Amino acid sequence: MAEKRDYYEVLGVSRDASADEIKKAYRTLGKKYHPDANPGDKTAEEKFKEVGEAYAVLSDPDKRRQYDQFGHQAFENGGMGGGGFDFNGMDFTDLFGDLFGGMFGGGARRNPTGPQKGANLRARIRITFDEAMKGVDKELEITLKEECENCHGTGAKPGTSATTCSKCGGKGQVAYTQQTLFGMTRSIQACPDCRGTGKIIKDKCPNCYGSGYISRRKKIQVSVPAGIDDGQSIRISGKGEPGENGGPRGDLYVEVSVSDHPIFQRDGMDIYSTAPMSFATATLGGEIRITTIDGDVIYDVKPGTQTETRIRLKGKGVPSVRDKNVRGDHYVTLIVQVPTKLNSEQKELLKKFDEAMGGSAGPEEGKKKRFFK
Ligand SMILES: [Zn+2]
Ligand SMILES: [Zn+2]
Repeated sequence: MAEKRDYYEVLGVSRDASADEIKKAYRTLGKKYHPDANPGDKTAEEKFKEVGEAYAVLSDPDKRRQYDQFGHQAFENGGMGGGGFDFNGMDFTDLFGDLFGGMFGGGARRNPTGPQKGANLRARIRITFDEAMKGVDKELEITLKEECENCHGTGAKPGTSATTCSKCGGKGQVAYTQQTLFGMTRSIQACPDCRGTGKIIKDKCPNCYGSGYISRRKKIQVSVPAGIDDGQSIRISGKGEPGENGGPRGDLYVEVSVSDHPIFQRDGMDIYSTAPMSFATATLGGEIRITTIDGDVIYDVKPGTQTETRIRLKGKGVPSVRDKNVRGDHYVTLIVQVPTKLNSEQKELLKKFDEAMGGSAGPEEGKKKRFFK
């Protein structure tokens, strides 16, 4: 597979481009490379797809954020069955439909009575922070439309059949003239009488009321890869709405919400946390126990470590969704614990220690300083 170009580069905009700038660039380039304007030009067609893909990501604030963080790998297939982060199943004709509908006189309009991919569905699951670190298999219940077994998806009562729509003559589409972004244009839209099917069902199937589909609750297995971040989506192909006229089903996009963790904070592939150490350990050095996502580790504190010293536990961060073995780091801020409840013996020892140090940080000294300020 050819190396993908940077989406910002594709659209020719800077990384901090506004939504308007991105839309403008997309519109200009989309027009330039549109297949209708470049018939038979394979390079233009590739560019047109590339521009559409870049726009699909950069125009969506969530996807743009994921892309900024992980690059193309945010949307590529992680190698798990069915799931993955890619847009291979995306219908770019649909993407451009909003902006370019009718603009070129309808020459490239697809035939509405031909096979069409079904719409995508969206769902959401919540997982814990730990599940996001290790990966998890989840079961999700969604309502899926399935072909009605009574009429085999035709929507017509068994023994009868649909008739050709008289408004559109079975073509499923009718022409309109309308005002658009680009001036007056003639556009072709789905026929309102038959809703683009080209057929009218007189005797509806009693099982599905003429729709051809029955909605059922279905359990879907979602394989969530280790390293997934809050707000990222997993694509499960073929679990969307049914296609029309023999087209494939759409896809299911499962957005993952990751709960906060009481100890760990995540930023990209790195993890942040704090760990306490005693005054004695900070001063003399010694071992402390630090909790990581892999469990506890023993860390050797150097003598004379100041409070709020940040240490790095290399490779103890978040695994990459692409490759479990590629991991970020874990940064730990060491905090010196100041004792609050000392008995008289402990207090005495600390006073002696302070005197041995020259008493420079003693309470009396502190008071004097404040007085003369
Ligand atoms: Zn039916
Ligand atoms: Zn019609």
